[in-house]
Order: sequence, then C-alpha cells, then structure tokens
Amino acid sequence: MVTKKPKVVIIGAGMAGLTAANKLYTSAGCKEFIEVCVVEGGDRIGGRIITSEFVGSRIEMGATWIHGIGGSPVYKIAQEINSLHSDKPWECMNEFLDEPLTIAEGGYHLNSSLVDPICNLFKKLMDFAQGKPHVQFPSSNGNLSIGSFLRKGLDAYWGSIKEQEETLGFDNWTRKSLEEGIFAMLENTQRTYTSAGDLETLDFNAESEYRMFPGKEITIAKGYSTIVESLASVLPDGMIQLGRKVTKIEWQPDDGENCDVIKPVKIHFCDGSIMYADHVIVTVSLGVLKQGIHNNTGMFSPPLPRFKTEAISRLGFGVVNKLFLQLSPNRDEFPNLQMVFHQSDSKLRHRRIPWWMRRTASLCPIYGTSNVLLSWFAGKEALEVESLSDEEIIDGFSKVISDLLENSKNKCNGHADSAIKFDKVLKTKWATDPLFLGSYSYVAVGSSGDDLDSMAEPLPKTNNHDLNSLQLQILFAGEATHRTHYSTTHGAYFSGLREANRLLQHYKYIDI
Ligand SMILES: Cc1cc2nc3c(=O)[nH]c(=O)nc-3n(C[C@H](O)[C@H](O)[C@H](O)COP(=O)(O)OP(=O)(O)OC[C@H]3O[C@@H](n4cnc5c(N)ncnc54)[C@H](O)[C@@H]3O)c2cc1C
Repeated sequence: MVTKKPKVVIIGAGMAGLTAANKLYTSAGCKEFIEVCVVEGGDRIGGRIITSEFVGSRIEMGATWIHGIGGSPVYKIAQEINSLHSDKPWECMNEFLDEPLTIAEGGYHLNSSLVDPICNLFKKLMDFAQGKPHVQFPSSNGNLSIGSFLRKGLDAYWGSIKEQEETLGFDNWTRKSLEEGIFAMLENTQRTYTSAGDLETLDFNAESEYRMFPGKEITIAKGYSTIVESLASVLPDGMIQLGRKVTKIEWQPDDGENCDVIKPVKIHFCDGSIMYADHVIVTVSLGVLKQGIHNNTGMFSPPLPRFKTEAISRLGFGVVNKLFLQLSPNRDEFPNLQMVFHQSDSKLRHRRIPWWMRRTASLCPIYGTSNVLLSWFAGKEALEVESLSDEEIIDGFSKVISDLLENSKNKCNGHADSAIKFDKVLKTKWATDPLFLGSYSYVAVGSSGDDLDSMAEPLPKTNNHDLNSLQLQILFAGEATHRTHYSTTHGAYFSGLREANRLLQHYKYIDI
C-alpha cells in the first residue's frame, strides 16, 4: 500500500521559512517521508535580508548586524560558508567608526566634556532597563514605557546637579537645552534599534527579557544574503516557488470531533490558484498579520481565534528605514557625524532643517574612507522618507549638513568651506512594501512576552496535549514569535527550527 506523504507548505522564504524548510528537508530520511514546499509572494528569497550595491560598495537594505557573535547561529553559518571575508568593501567593515563629531544646530562643535556625561547617563539608564545587574535606580511598577523611564532618569540627573541655566556662548543654547538635545539624539538612536517610533510606546518591563549574544557585533563581508542563499542551496529545484502571494488560508478549527482525521488546509493565491496542505507554517511579518486580521477580507478563514488576534494587535511593529547618500567627489573624509537639534522652542529652530531630519541622530560613512554615507530613520520620519523624492532628500541633507559643518568650521577656524553636495540616494521602503508593512517587532506598552509566546502557538488550539491528536494545521514562525530574540535574524532562525522540530516530533521523527 502506498501512503500519502504529509505535505508541509511554508509561507515566506525569509530567514524563518528557509530555516524551517532546510531543517525539514535535511533531517535524515525526512525528505522520503514529508513533502515540503515554500511559497514566497515576492520575486526573491531572503525577506527582510537583502544585500545590495551602492556606488561600488556592498550594503545591506535590511538586516545589517550579527548582534553578538557568541552563540549566534547566523555567525556560525557565516563562518562555515566563509562569508566573513571579502576583497570588496562592505558596510561597517571596520565595525565601529572613529570618535564621533557631535555638532549642535547652529554649527556648534560639542566637546566630550559636554557630550560624555549625558551619554554615560543614557547608557546607565538603558543598562538598568535591560536588567544589567550592576546598575541601581529606583524601580517602578505598572505600565511604564522606556520613554517615560528615560525622561525620569534625565529629570533625576538634573535634580542631582546644580541649576545649569548657564549660557555657553552658543547663540540660544543653554547647558540644559544642549543636554536635552544630546539626550534626544540618543533616544533617536534607540528608536532605530527597537523600531518603536515613539519610545513612550515601548514597554519597560519587556526590555529586560530581550537577550543579546555576547561578543562583538559585526556585519557580514560577503553580505547577509549569503546566509539565506546557503540555507536555500540544499533544497531541490522547484521546492521554493516565487511570485506566489497567499491571499487566504482556510483552516478547520477544532470541533472536538474526528481528532484523528487529518484536516487539510486550503491555501489561495493571488492568481486564483489553490493548494492543499496538511500543515502550513506561516512566517509572514507581524505587519502583514496585523493587516490580515484587520480588514474584512482577512487572510484567515475562519478568522484567527481571539488569543491570536489580541497578541497580534497588542505587539508593536515599527518602521525603520536606511538611507544611503553618495557624497560628491573632492571632499575630505566625512566625519562620523552626530547631530543635536533644538527640542522645544520652535523660535530657536533653524528654518532650513526639514522636520523629517530633526530626529535623525547621525550621518556616517559606511566605512572609514567611504564616500557613501548612511542615516537611519524611525517612526513618522521613516515613513516620510519613503514618500520623498530623491531630489527632496538630497536638497534637505545638503542644506542641513552644509549648515552644520560650515558653521562649525567658521566658528572654529574663521573660514568657510564649500557646501556639501550629494549625488545619489538610495533608501529602503519597508513600510509601504505590502509584503512587509514595517521593519521589525517590539513589545509595546500593554503587551508582554506572553504575547510573543501566543504568537508561536499552533492552531487549532486544543486542551489535549497528546501529540498524536494535535492537528497542527497552522504553525507560526518568524521573528515576532520568539520571546527573547524577537526583531532579529537569529530570532527568525530559531523560530523556523522550532516549528520544523514541532512537526518532526509530531511524526515521532526525533532528530532535534
Ligand atoms: C532596516 C532593517 C534593519 C535590520 N537590521 C537587523 C540587524 O542588524 N540584525 C538583525 O538580526 N536583524 C535585523 N533586522 C531584522 C531582520 O531582518 C528580521 O528580523 C528577519 O529577517 C525576519 O525574518 P522572517 O523570516 O521572520 O521574516 P521575513 O524576512 O519578513 O520573511 C517573510 C517572507 O514572507 C513573504 N510574504 C509576506 N506576505 C506573503 C504572502 N501573503 N504570501 C507569500 N509570501 C509572503 C515576504 O515576502 C518575506 O519574504 C532588520 C530589519 C530591517 C527591515
């Protein structure tokens, strides 16, 4: 008798989907036993991992860093495939750049005696929020956000030192307003790290659950895409189907009857075709899931149960975009520039600075001598950048950076430099891409790590924990399903492994 192989369809060929496919396919003997298919809505693999090129340098449009090499599975793969060396220059090849040059609105070069105390304060506050044991601050309860915690810390700092309304000979800047500007610059960097457009929406308690790997943070010389290419390289031709956007997943909630009959899942594609599967692993982004549960023509039929939709709604999914600019030739090396802008009084603000640049923390060469500069944007500003034309971006940056640097030179040396010009721009558009609808997830105020666990639960949910009677019709993987490593490539990797292992265990195929 020939028995039919169970069919697993994985939706999405990003890090989570490809890891799941790789694990299922390479587990010894499993390919004889389970049929695997990956359906990807886009025309490439990798999802939020995409290495590209900009004026001769290798750059990353999405995932950029290995966040700590100690224990990172991404680092292990990169080592195995020899991706950590390249003859061609790549983004952040010299890890972190030289000492930053910090310039305040109006062109004032701030020396380290002004900047360092605020940087140290900010670091201590974040260390405390992240649960680093050696730092002591009064703890607080309730729905505290990282934003309000940081501001309390800044107020406490100001309370602990002498009143400092002292003017510094910098036009309208007082010491206090400068400290506030420096603090805001650091908050803006934190917004890009977490993707929370507003730190008032980032949950304080969850911050200490987030885990980083130890060791240095590095970028991948041959490009992040080599990691996903390596995972996909062992899969046979045809297993990954590109251009197959899923529009609906029809599943069958547990009605308490016929538990031992496998109930197939029906998958609808945008071209009208359908596919049946015994198990579906959904790896689409939290942004796509948020949209999928909110409109009437939702992605799931019947709609997902409440515990899922509530977790999907409560968790945060923000926008972070990268912007690359090519500096016109004949310029000196560009500094690792940090920008400090006036925070409160609009009368003090320079009108030439567009609003979408006011929360930009830095503009730095992608490596020491490169003429390609990089800025990160989060929240509303990141969204605005997606809609601006290249000319508007170049114009905005040219004015602001020329003002900052020229004024700073004038003030230091008494002579002007030629204006800064940019030739070309390349930006990411993660929010408006319908296959992502944002950049990465965060634990928003009102949600918790429990919601990340709920994200990972397979459907239909049953109280019966006998593995044999579980239907496992829809499984969920992707960075937003990992309680401690959400928002990262390795979180996505672990989630793909987790769901592949769930199926292997289900079929008593223990190869974990
Ligand atoms: C700008 C930016 C910078 C980042 N920097 C870092 C970093 O430095 N380090 C780090 O570790 N992480 C970083 N990340 C996060 C990291 O890229 C992601 O966490 C990770 O790649 C997510 O993988 P995934 O498989 O969960 O999801 P995805 O990569 O989103 O994969 C899901 C796949 O599903 C597909 N899909 C969506 N809808 C459908 C549909 N309806 N039908 C079929 N297919 C569909 C998508 O096209 C996509 O390929 C960054 C992300 C961004 C955007």
